[in-house]
Amino acid sequence: METTYNVDEKGYYGDFGGAYIPEMLYPNVEELRSKYLEITSEPGFVKEFNQLLKDYVGRPSPLYYAKRLSEKYQTKVYLKREDLNHTGAHKINNTIGQILVAQKLGKKRIIAETGAGQHGVATATVCALMGMECIVYMGEIDIKRQAPNVARMKMLGAEVRPALSGSKTLKDATNEAIRDWINNPTDTHYIIGSAIGPHPYPDMVTRFQSVISEEIKSQLQEKEGRSNPDYVIACIGGGSNAAGTYYHFLDEKEVGIIAVEAAGKGVDSGHSAATSKLGKDGIIHGCKTLLMQTDDGQITEPYSISAGLDYPGVGPMHAHLARTGRAEFYSVTDSDAMEAGLELSKLEGIIPAIETSHALSIFKQKSFKKDDVVVISLSGRGDKDLNTYIDYFNLA
Ligand SMILES: *Cc1c(COP(=O)(O)O)cnc(C)c1O
Repeated sequence: METTYNVDEKGYYGDFGGAYIPEMLYPNVEELRSKYLEITSEPGFVKEFNQLLKDYVGRPSPLYYAKRLSEKYQTKVYLKREDLNHTGAHKINNTIGQILVAQKLGKKRIIAETGAGQHGVATATVCALMGMECIVYMGEIDIKRQAPNVARMKMLGAEVRPALSGSKTLKDATNEAIRDWINNPTDTHYIIGSAIGPHPYPDMVTRFQSVISEEIKSQLQEKEGRSNPDYVIACIGGGSNAAGTYYHFLDEKEVGIIAVEAAGKGVDSGHSAATSKLGKDGIIHGCKTLLMQTDDGQITEPYSISAGLDYPGVGPMHAHLARTGRAEFYSVTDSDAMEAGLELSKLEGIIPAIETSHALSIFKQKSFKKDDVVVISLSGRGDKDLNTYIDYFNLA
């Protein structure tokens, strides 16, 4: 049987995926599962989604040939400029798609959880766009750590509700959001921000983000006379920018797929988020996937200098890509990522998000052939990370 890297009818990618949810949540998830494909393939939906991606987000994002970076590493490097999207990253592609789905389902109220606040801002943005009520759950500690994003969400009209339980961070915010959804099953849609969660979320988010690889194909055709690169490379937190970057290449065997995770202070340091190396099969956020956990199944607190990669799991598609060997996984430390971010700034005049800097550090670990076409997802811009760069490099 031909291996497929896409989701099957039951919501699985090989061993991973599914919908492991409390019974009380079943009606909400089932409503979405039974309708998402029909809604998102309806011509009116497709037209509105594409129009907003064009006029509001600013798509297509450029595919930029990075000349100086290419010279330095003796290969052909293209950067897919998701950093130029409205709100500064790829996350908006997904929130636009999900708010349209919510409207088609007749929902009036949007909830979301956020860690660093990037997904919260992307959600608050589309709620303002559509005039919908928006509640964002965020750990109390994260609210303190991420004050500028909290201010953005408030300015956009969202209510930010603190999660006060547990470690007062992302997973506690997720628990609060799930509790809210159980209590408000009819009028509320829960916007998940990465390619994770119970089926159909990983597939739905991947489809919305797949515009990235769709554009890469036609842009490469124009620039290189062929639509397939030799490699596509992306950083992985939950895995949404990566899933979108890989999507149209999954079954193109000649395209190498490279995933870059955060090694934090080192894979074996006890302070990392290198899930493909450290994770075991487990359940998080409603799906079965690779998860960093103790021997008795307690989720291990992840660590990365980059807030967007600081997650103890990966989406089920990526767990499957790791297990089948379809993707090569690399782990990049904080310090290597920071150096790669500085290097891109100096070589190309582009200050990347620290998440993206991890993907850019691939050249330190792998060499490519001179005429290889290597496409890297530049998932976001570095404005939000300026203070981290300033402290790290003593730039003040
Ligand atoms: C959130 C974020 C990520 C990580 O999320 P994925 O779902 O893995 O893509 C990566 N880069 C940027 C700029 C982000 O904001």
